[in-house]
Amino acid sequence: MAFKPANNIQDLQYFGEFGGVNPSISDSSTYTFLSAKTMFDTFEGNADGCYLYSRHSSPSNLYLGEALAAMEGTETANVSASGMGAITPVILQLCGAGDHIISSRTIYGGTYAFLKNFTPKFNIHTNFVDITKLDLVEALITDRTKIIYCESVSNPLLEVADIKALAEIAKKHNLKLVVDNTFSPLSISPAVWGADVVIHSLTKFINGTSDTVGGVACGTQDFINALRNVNDGASMLLGSTMDSLRAASVLKNLRTLHIRMQQHSKNAMFLAKKFESDGLKTVYPGLPSHPSHTLFKRMMNEAYGFGGMLTIDVGSLDKANELMEMMQDKNLGYLAVSLGFYKTLFSAPGSSTSSEIPKEEQQDMGLTDGLIRFSIGLDADIERTYNTIKSCMLSIGVLKETMASHVQ
Ligand SMILES: *Cc1c(COP(=O)(O)O)cnc(C)c1O
Repeated sequence: MAFKPANNIQDLQYFGEFGGVNPSISDSSTYTFLSAKTMFDTFEGNADGCYLYSRHSSPSNLYLGEALAAMEGTETANVSASGMGAITPVILQLCGAGDHIISSRTIYGGTYAFLKNFTPKFNIHTNFVDITKLDLVEALITDRTKIIYCESVSNPLLEVADIKALAEIAKKHNLKLVVDNTFSPLSISPAVWGADVVIHSLTKFINGTSDTVGGVACGTQDFINALRNVNDGASMLLGSTMDSLRAASVLKNLRTLHIRMQQHSKNAMFLAKKFESDGLKTVYPGLPSHPSHTLFKRMMNEAYGFGGMLTIDVGSLDKANELMEMMQDKNLGYLAVSLGFYKTLFSAPGSSTSSEIPKEEQQDMGLTDGLIRFSIGLDADIERTYNTIKSCMLSIGVLKETMASHVQ
């Protein structure tokens, strides 16, 4: 499969209106037509290449969408104002009243809240399941099931979905497999393994500068056209459109994604190995101790590594908070939600990004109070970072001297 451009960035070629090396930003919400007939045809969806109104599409958004579709190996893509602005229309486009969804139980808190609390208002119901148990997934399918929903690498527990096996189940039962790939851009290409729709929150690694929210849904031309349809397209009608200026800036950041992912992965792998050998309970897909290590390896595009996300468990929320505050004091990173920034970001998901998930369910899925989620930054000297983190851990007793002294 020939990929471009984020992993073959040299192949990306867009010119501006006056031969500029960057595509011109289309700073318009509406577009003129030379003839009234063309305007009518465009409304009917029969005038290819004509722009109508920027909630429907705009040149800048199409540039970014095409670059992302090329990265994911899908026919096309639709960018949106946020990740949730991509997820919610995709779900509502594929499901109507009475329909049923099977979702991984470890997903982004906002997506969980949407499926658990919001879609039931439309009589759309979701079963949450351990997505690594394929027999459980298949057993839940009914004649009203429309979607299997998961994240390639789940938030925050870093469970890995067997996309190929899930795609086979989906095909067999005529369902759509929707995969949120936010945690593993470039590392995993879900569409190659059979996902029907691939979603990203661009807010995270892809944009990488924590200066905006954004999202994308990648899929077939037919599906993306359906999302944008002026009569019944969920993206068009719910209106979570990205602004052109922002689409242009995200496209510029996309050009360094391949380098950034390599560095995030390299740094995360270094720290994960150190933390684990220090005796900390460490979860990182690149560690052989991770239950889905071999599965990740089988799916991954090797050059980009196992990603920038890891978790450790320090035993209690108090210890987690103490450690995070100290790490922030030492300028090791920021106590902040989100991911994919140049600085390391850390948070305790149980009391923040996953707080939408009720406590009992958190316990059930192994989301413990002492869990700290790290998005590892682009640090140039990760060894120095590690040594400073270790001294924080020693000083508050998360690591014991005796334990650490014989580990280098
Ligand atoms: C952040 C995130 C989202 C939501 O994206 P927004 O851009 O904040 O709307 C969805 N899925 C995952 C995995 C995320 O990390």
